Amino acid sequence: MISSELRELYQELILEHSKKPRNFRVLEGANHTAEGFNPLCGDKIKLYLEIEDGRVKDIGFQGSGCAISKASASMMTASVKGKSVSETQTLFSEFHKMLSGKESTEFDETKLGKLSVFSGVSEFPVRVKCATLAWHTLKAGMESSGKTVTTEA
Ligand code: ZN
Repeated sequence: MISSELRELYQELILEHSKKPRNFRVLEGANHTAEGFNPLCGDKIKLYLEIEDGRVKDIGFQGSGCAISKASASMMTASVKGKSVSETQTLFSEFHKMLSGKESTEFDETKLGKLSVFSGVSEFPVRVKCATLAWHTLKAGMESSGKTVTTEA
């Protein structure tokens, strides 16, 4: 259970990231890009990745949308920068598990670190897509370049 104090802290962090997103820029040296769209909310993201030797050397994004989608993109970029592609995939699956909202699903909070702030979002199914959009876009960008993903398959 998340205490109300913790919930407030989480909301502050989400708000802070949505107001001042990290890595919010076009990446000149990008060798992978992907676009994501969440038609339910209107969130859009374009992701720029510089992947070298199986590692996310640099990352940037542009986009518009609700506070949750922006904060999630901001925190995603901050947490995968410098990580290997396989570490990034582990993070993706933990993040996904956390937001699936099934009580039986255990996710590894120690792996997620600050990303755990989005755990409260699982209570709002519509918002889950806002929070996972950046991650789906990341996955698409790592797998192949120039792809557009949508949360409504
Ligand atoms: Zn949204």
